[in-house]
Amino acid sequence: MTTTSDVINPATEELLRTVEQTDEAGVDDAVARARAAQRQWARQAPAERAAALRAFAAVVDAHVEELAQLEVANSGHPIGNARWEAGHVRDVLQYYSASPERLSGKQIPVAGGLDVTFNEPLGVVGVITPWNFPMTIASWGFAPALAAGNAVLVKPAEWTPLTTIRLGELAVEAGLPADLFQVVPGRGSVVGERFVSHPDVRKIVFTGSTEVGTRVMAGAAQQVKRVTLELGGKSANIVFDDCDLERAAATAPYGVFDNSGQDCCARSRILVQRNVFDRFMELFEPAVKGVVVGDPRAEGTEMGPLVSKAHWESVAGYVPDGAPVAFRGDAPTGPGYWFPPTVLTPPRDDRTVTEEIFGPVVTVLPFDHEADAIALANDTPYGLSGSIWTENVSRALRVSRAVESGNLSVNSHSSVRYSTPFGGFKQSGLGRELGPDAPLSFTETKNVFIAVQEEH
Ligand code: NAD
Repeated sequence: MTTTSDVINPATEELLRTVEQTDEAGVDDAVARARAAQRQWARQAPAERAAALRAFAAVVDAHVEELAQLEVANSGHPIGNARWEAGHVRDVLQYYSASPERLSGKQIPVAGGLDVTFNEPLGVVGVITPWNFPMTIASWGFAPALAAGNAVLVKPAEWTPLTTIRLGELAVEAGLPADLFQVVPGRGSVVGERFVSHPDVRKIVFTGSTEVGTRVMAGAAQQVKRVTLELGGKSANIVFDDCDLERAAATAPYGVFDNSGQDCCARSRILVQRNVFDRFMELFEPAVKGVVVGDPRAEGTEMGPLVSKAHWESVAGYVPDGAPVAFRGDAPTGPGYWFPPTVLTPPRDDRTVTEEIFGPVVTVLPFDHEADAIALANDTPYGLSGSIWTENVSRALRVSRAVESGNLSVNSHSSVRYSTPFGGFKQSGLGRELGPDAPLSFTETKNVFIAVQEEH
């Protein structure tokens, strides 16, 4: 029996489309076809594979506006952000199109012959994505995996599958071999779990919650299946008294409220040195109130709605009546899952400080000195991202080395560049995506020794 899932526009609550959910037999069929396509793909000359990825990038480039508008409708991302996301997919493809011709092995000096290593593709790779950045996160998996000679199946999240489905169509339009890159919409408990249990899916790239990621890792262990995990976060934005406080306060809203706080890298704990805490809050309040929340189709909008009603209820649960609200920004009323930027000043052990809220809610906490800031930043099972604001270079480096987190920025809130590695410490994940080495994580190293006969 075919099941379907309704896709809702979160800014209007209108039904956008109904998407058919793949069943287990559908996954098995997709894997079989991907396996056959992969064998052909791996036999192609490296330059041909590079050209195919460049063609895919060019087709994405020609559809940036269409993809962006689709993301606005499906995910409620502001149009400016959505254009950046679609352009980022093109850039990621373009970047990894250079890899097929550069995946060289090694020649290692040994006695009695020649020793060489090859970077062999894994086969079929299953990419499971969350709903918050559908296109970009899919591309971090599929682009380097394809570049390394693999076939890829992507399972998008149930709430936001539309741009990923469109990317699957654009791959075919660009001339990528049939079945090499397939989008398989469906439930996590059906499609996701079948990716994990299917013996011909050789690696899982999972991005999502730490809870589900833990299950994926346990399931993959049954077959010693390779995994990359990109999981939750509760990142700290550490503001020292010697920083440019005006700039730290003016940019802090964008370090946490971008994508309505539905960002694994959101700096959702702002730690401020006690002697500048009050001044920071004075500067932070107008910055929060200045965030433009509204129709995601409008050019000037900085923050849209939350993704769904269920998610709105989860976020709202963190701000009950009587919550320690310092101040809040604006949000539209009427249809749509709107939630205003919200600033809390709770005690250090409150659940708003320890749990990932994944919405536009930030906690601000005072600290006393550098060691206190580091201890507080590290007092979490997560370790994905973070920012450090200081004009003191030695302190910037000391704190950067001491914070247990995969992606830190000093005097900015940047986390993601396709040319640099991205991923988490502790329960924020396992492995790294992006950067020059990503294709290697979609290969096995094979060592071959060739004996050389002595001349008689
Ligand atoms: P989620 O874990 O609920 O779902 C993620 C994906 O897993 C979805 O496609 C879902 O259908 C699938 N899934 C669900 N159950 C499954 C199962 N049993 N087996 C296999 N797949 C299954 O996460 P979400 O709510 O979509 O996304 C939000 C979470 O993602 C947050 O915790 C956020 O921090 C995290 N995230 C992390 C990163 C990162 O790079 N570290 C990036 C974005 C989001």
